[in-house]
Amino acid sequence: MRLARFDGGKIGLVLDQEVADITDVCGVDAGEWPAMGSVRLIRDFEALRPKIEAALATAPRKPLSEVRLETPVPWPNKVIAYPVNYHAHGREMQAGYRATNQGFFLKPNSSLSGPSDPVVLPQVPGREVHHESELAIIIGKEVRGLKREDWREAVFGYACLLDMVVRGREERVFRKAYDSFCPVGPWIVTADEIPNPAELNMKLWVNDELRQSANTRDLVLDIPGMIETASAVMTLYPGDIIATGTPEGVGPVVAGDTIRITIDNIGEMKVPVVQGDLGMTEVFAQPYVPPIIKQN
Ligand code: MN
Repeated sequence: MRLARFDGGKIGLVLDQEVADITDVCGVDAGEWPAMGSVRLIRDFEALRPKIEAALATAPRKPLSEVRLETPVPWPNKVIAYPVNYHAHGREMQAGYRATNQGFFLKPNSSLSGPSDPVVLPQVPGREVHHESELAIIIGKEVRGLKREDWREAVFGYACLLDMVVRGREERVFRKAYDSFCPVGPWIVTADEIPNPAELNMKLWVNDELRQSANTRDLVLDIPGMIETASAVMTLYPGDIIATGTPEGVGPVVAGDTIRITIDNIGEMKVPVVQGDLGMTEVFAQPYVPPIIKQN
């Protein structure tokens, strides 16, 4: 199933070129604050699934092109992100570490945005804002101390994710925390439709230029390992999001660009880049341009 949020917090099932509105059968209040309906839906999904399937025949439908898709889980308990999780990206950044010996960081939930939202560049003169294309894992179950062989128990589904970042040497979380620096979408594809997430091609374009092209088989810390590591430290909750790391080919975006990411079996998310007027901080007073070494 392809589960989307759309048009102000409604829940939709994406069917080819249509969206079936299943908000009511999922028991979600589209206008609620905080918008935690999709977290509860993910927790209760196995029980709801037969009801969703039964409701499909009569659920109101709209053409996909006429809805405004929103970030699927706007209020997760946390967004976990693994840095330097493809060797070629580690080499281009001249990083001496990998996710296997670095662990993870967190992105603030408030950085989440959706497939219809722009990436808003902060005022950071002298700095580059880079795209990182990533596969997102959506956690489906409350787990702690899960062993790697049991990783599938924890996974609800997958989505495309952009881990946007101001390049520099300052605190990583600070540089990745701006509003709109974590677009997720265009929807969640449930895990049953992606039997092997470790063989997905992922591509990212800026305008018409292909910048990133990789396969999730090249992850350094694999998906079972990421779940085991995160759940060794923290309780994982339904709706938690894991950004699995970016491959080589990261680079700057500027206002007016369009970022497009595609992942096999998930779909495509295309977001515009605009300049915002917030975000000026003395932390970024010193200019910095990353010495990225192009990979062959
Ligand atoms: Mn990243």
